[in-house]
Amino acid sequence: MLKRETLKLLPQPRRWLVCALLPLALHTLPALAREGVEVGKNSAFSKLVPADEVENSAGQQYSQLLAQARAKHALAPPEHPQLQRLRAIARKIIPHALSWNPRARDWQWEVNLIGSSQINAFCMPGGKIAFYSGILDKLQLSDDEVAMVMGHEVAHALREHARERMGKSAVTHGAARIGGVLAAGIFGIDPRLTDTLARGGANLLTLEFSREDESEADLVGMELAARAGFDPRAGVTLWQKMSAANKGGPPQWLSTHPSGKTRIADIEKNLPKVLPLYRQ
Ligand SMILES: [Zn+2]
Repeated sequence: MLKRETLKLLPQPRRWLVCALLPLALHTLPALAREGVEVGKNSAFSKLVPADEVENSAGQQYSQLLAQARAKHALAPPEHPQLQRLRAIARKIIPHALSWNPRARDWQWEVNLIGSSQINAFCMPGGKIAFYSGILDKLQLSDDEVAMVMGHEVAHALREHARERMGKSAVTHGAARIGGVLAAGIFGIDPRLTDTLARGGANLLTLEFSREDESEADLVGMELAARAGFDPRAGVTLWQKMSAANKGGPPQWLSTHPSGKTRIADIEKNLPKVLPLYRQ
């Protein structure tokens, strides 16, 4: 366990993620519908920003976040049992992620655990995953529930929702190119991160994806988790736990992931699409 006294609140990185479509080689018979969930094409906005630029920027900011956590003795060492658990779950999910985005094959996937009371987790573009200890401890997540959170976050990355956001921003701001500063703003990592920390770790603004992107991440995430052998019905218990935790002040994750009956109902409605994958 991370020592309690060493846990410090870290600013919340904005949550983001990525993807590129091309459900590659999922079926050799073109006439057969693809088994599992159906989502549309990626937003045209994502094409406005080079994927490698997004991923490089994400990688740098992830490294920065880890370095800051390490300096505060809040980065879990490789032998930490909860980190080993997260990595074991990721190892099952990642092979099923590759068909959603051909770039994912070359990503340097990473999974880290940060000591923080925040209920939060994210997967940055390029496969940089982090969980905050608060989401595991406070919600007492089962492996199936962890897989639902991870699947959801990885789905944002695979579907390149952050890149889409950046593309939309570029249009809005008339930017011909996306510079590091804009990337930092979109990703929610304050370029003045050090100052922010010095001021007492104030929470940074959180990145909100559109409702459509959230629904898509729920769907794709459920499918990833189910194919990896995790029970997709955990999506329901996960959101019930989130809602319960909400009563004591909204968890970070909920600030960008509105909970409630609609979300749970949507997950229940989609269960028949992914339960067969799990049972296989
Ligand atoms: Zn989300």
